[in-house]
Amino acid sequence: MSDCLFCKIIAGEIPSTKVYEDDSVLAFRDIAPQAPCHVLVIPKRHIADVNGITAENSAIVAHIFQVIPQIAKAEGLENGYRVVSNCGSDAGQTVQHLHFHILGGKQLALEMA
Ligand code: 5GP
Ligand code: ZN
Repeated sequence: MSDCLFCKIIAGEIPSTKVYEDDSVLAFRDIAPQAPCHVLVIPKRHIADVNGITAENSAIVAHIFQVIPQIAKAEGLENGYRVVSNCGSDAGQTVQHLHFHILGGKQLALEMA
């Protein structure tokens, strides 16, 4: 996806502060952190959002959720953290490339909506 911001980050065309990378996943710091720790975890393969997850590509989501605890541990989030994925305009999704926010490092607000 040549016009996708996160695909450009994966390609190295836009700089990011990486915290984890393997063959299929990249994690980097959010440019506008909402908590002391705010990391975005994305598949390197372009998937637009949660609605784009299928039987054919869902293994990457399982892998992302294996990686998330490793990142949380490396970030020192021993007191807990939140994982969020916004899907669509009502949820406030602003980048159309599947991503999981890891938020932590403080007591997070309980409001979910
Ligand atoms: P969404 O609102 O789609 O759930 O989350 C998109 C996130 O991407 C936002 O938290 C926003 O701050 C972050 N973001 C947008 N542009 C950039 C960028 O160029 N670099 C980084 N590291 N994060 C970005
Ligand atoms: Zn993309």
